[in-house]
Amino acid sequence: MRDQLLIGGTWRQARNRGRMPVIDPATEEVFAEVAAGDPADVGDAVAAAKAAFAGGWKRTTGAERAVVMRRIAEGLRARREDLARLEVRDNGKPLPEARWDMDDAAFCFDYYADLAEGLDGRQGTAIDVGEPRFASKVLYQPAGVAGLIVPWNYPLLMACWKVCPALAAGCTMVLKPSELTPLTALELGAIAAEAGLPPGVLNIVTGTGSAAGAPLSRHPDVAKLAFTGSVPTGRAVMAAAAEDIKTVSLELGGKSPFIVFADSDLDQAVEWILFGIFWNQGEVCSATSRVLVERGLYDRLLDRLVAEAERIPMGNGLDDGVLLGPLVSEGQHRKVLDAIERGRRDGAKLACGGRRPEDLKRGYFVSPTVFTEVPVASPLWREEVFGPVVCVEPFSTEAEALALANDSRYGLAAAVMSHDLERCERVAAELEAGIVWINCSQPTFAQAPWGGMKQSGIGRELGRWGLENYLEVKQVTTYASREPWGWYLKPGA
Ligand code: NAD
Repeated sequence: MRDQLLIGGTWRQARNRGRMPVIDPATEEVFAEVAAGDPADVGDAVAAAKAAFAGGWKRTTGAERAVVMRRIAEGLRARREDLARLEVRDNGKPLPEARWDMDDAAFCFDYYADLAEGLDGRQGTAIDVGEPRFASKVLYQPAGVAGLIVPWNYPLLMACWKVCPALAAGCTMVLKPSELTPLTALELGAIAAEAGLPPGVLNIVTGTGSAAGAPLSRHPDVAKLAFTGSVPTGRAVMAAAAEDIKTVSLELGGKSPFIVFADSDLDQAVEWILFGIFWNQGEVCSATSRVLVERGLYDRLLDRLVAEAERIPMGNGLDDGVLLGPLVSEGQHRKVLDAIERGRRDGAKLACGGRRPEDLKRGYFVSPTVFTEVPVASPLWREEVFGPVVCVEPFSTEAEALALANDSRYGLAAAVMSHDLERCERVAAELEAGIVWINCSQPTFAQAPWGGMKQSGIGRELGRWGLENYLEVKQVTTYASREPWGWYLKPGA
C-alpha cells in the first residue's frame, strides 16, 4: 500500500516525517499509515504543479490529454477489484458499492477524455459582435493550478469528479484526500504516473484539513479551488478563496426530501426510499433523509419500510451479501448516535434501529433507523445526519408537501414519486434543489450536472458544467479594418 506524498512525480515522506493511522471501520484496527503532510509539503506540491503547468501541460491539446486520460481509465479498470477492496477497508462501504464506484471512476476519465477532445473544436469560435470592423473569438484556457479537496464518503470517485475535468481542461493540480480515507487517491496517483501523466500534473498531499487543506485553500498560486465536504468547511474554503479572488466551486451537504404520492406503487416506493437513505450507510450528501408520504399511503408504507429496513444485511463490507457496512469512523459513529439521541429528546418517535446492532460488537455500526413524528424545529429534521437515519412524515396536499420539502437551508437534491408524471414534472419544477429525481432516488450520471442550491453549494460538477469550472474564457478581438479608427487622430486633419 502506498503511504507517501506524490509531489512533482516523486513519492516521498512528509517533510516533518509525520504519519497518520488509517483505520478499518469494520474492525476498528489500524491497517495502514500515510504521510501527514503539512503546509511545507503543500507549498512543494503547488510549486510542482505550477512548474508542470508552465512547463508544457497548459499547451497540450485536448486530444493529447485525452490519450493519457483513457490510459488512466484502463489502469483503473485493470485494478478494479484491488481498488474496490481497498476502498471497503478504508471507508466501510459494501463491496458491490465499491465496485460500482470504481466503474464510475473509470467512466469519468473516459467521459472527460471525450470532452477534452471536444474542447479543441471549440477553440477560436467566432462571436458576432455586430460591427464589421471587428472580429471577435473565444479561447478556452486552463485556469492554472487547481486545489482539489475531497471528503471520505466516495473517496476515489469524489477525487475523480474533480481530477477528470481539471485534466481535461489542461489544469495541473494538488489533490487533498480526506484524512480518513486517503488510500485509493494515492493509488490513482500511481496509475496516472504509469499511464504517462507528466510529473507534477497531479500531486497528492495526504494530511488533515487544518495542516494540508487550509494551506492549500489559502495558497496564492492556486487559481481554482474545488471543494466537497461540509458547510462549515466550505465556508472556510470560500473565505480563503476570497483573499485572492480565486474561482471556487463548493459541493456541500443536504437534507433532501422525497415526496411520495399515494398513487405510487408500494414496492417501488419502499425500494427507492431504502436506496435513498441506506445506500453507502446514508453517508451520501444527496441522501433523501426526509420522506414525505401522502396520507392515503402513509401507514402501509411505514409498516413495510420498517420491516424491510430491519432485514438489511449488515456487517463487514467485504463479506458476501452485506448491504450496510459500518460508518466511516468513531467520530462519525458518535455524531450519528448523538443526532439520534437528540431527536428522541426532541420528541421524535423511533420506529426502528437507532443503535449499534447487538451482534456487531466491533466496528462503527448503526442499524437502519426510521423516525416518525419528528418536530420540524428539531435538528433531526433540519440538519444533515450523514448516516442511516430517515424521518418519515405524512402530508395531505401537494402544496403542503412542497412547503415542507422546500423549508430547508439546503437545496442539493430532492425526489418525487407518483404514477402521474405531469404532477411529478410540476413538483420537480417547484422543488428548490439542484438535482431532482422522478420515481427514483440517487442514480447519478457523469453526463448530468451535479450540485446544489442555497447552502448546498456553488457551481456544478460533472457533465460539461464540470469542465467549465476549470476553464478561463478569453475573448480575442481584432480590429480588422484598414480604415483608421479616427477618434483622436482625425483623418485628413
Ligand atoms: P469535511 O468538511 O469535514 O471535510 C472535507 C475535506 O475538507 C477533507 O478532506 C478535510 O480534510 C478538508 N478540510 C477540513 N477542514 C478544512 C479547512 N479548514 N480547509 C480546507 N480543507 C479542510 O467533510 P467530510 O466530513 O469529509 O464529508 C462529509 C460532508 O461532505 C457532508 O456534509 C456531505 O454532505 C458533504 N458531501 C457533499 C457532496 C456533494 O456532492 N455535495 C458529496 C460528498 C460529501
